[in-house]
Amino acid sequence: MSIAQNIARIRSTLPDGVTLVAVSKFHPSEIIRKAYDTGQRIFGESRVQELTAKRPLLPPDIEWHFIGTLQTNKVKQIAPFICMIHSIDSAGLLKEVDRQAAKCHRTIRVLLEIHIAEETSKHGFTMDECRTLLREGMASACPNVCIAGLMGMATFTDSMEQVGREFKRLRTFFEEIKNDCPPGEFFTELSIGMSGDYLTAVANGSTMVRIGSDIFGERLY
Ligand SMILES: *Cc1c(COP(=O)(O)O)cnc(C)c1O
Repeated sequence: MSIAQNIARIRSTLPDGVTLVAVSKFHPSEIIRKAYDTGQRIFGESRVQELTAKRPLLPPDIEWHFIGTLQTNKVKQIAPFICMIHSIDSAGLLKEVDRQAAKCHRTIRVLLEIHIAEETSKHGFTMDECRTLLREGMASACPNVCIAGLMGMATFTDSMEQVGREFKRLRTFFEEIKNDCPPGEFFTELSIGMSGDYLTAVANGSTMVRIGSDIFGERLY
């Protein structure tokens, strides 16, 4: 299957309103270009150095999303152009994104990453930490970020039952936040679903799926 066929197949299974983020990490710009030529404009990367190296080689109308662990001291390198950061996992990181966005006279859309996996190795806020952060007024304290929603990663397992359970918990929490302490009217996105579990994510209310290997093939890493 070609990249174009993969994208067409995935798109045909996504309901209207679900955004496809093509995760292009570890793939060179020529490969990304093939996806771009099918009309794909939203790409996700997980390393600052890789993203800043590839971006100048690609068309300027790509919307870059950052999805990986982000070190505070690297925020300034992506702040001038990044479209969305999915992986805000600490208050300190959120404040730094706000500070760097202000310097660039921008507002950066971000998602708060919530730890939902039953396994312990994944990043993110606990639900309680997230409630506290929002109740303490972090959204209004950071005027140059727009908290657009939540992101989560399920346990890496073949059990779609477990994955579905984890996604469902996040969906319920997303609704709770929306009702109880909405960070703003733009709190609309639920970024869940990767190659192995995006259909389960869509069934559980995903508005953004982050798909890499199902589009580009296996990564060598
Ligand atoms: C790599 C990555 C993806 C995509 O994973 P695939 O299994 O290749 O679809 C999605 N989200 C995050 C945070 C990632 O790091």
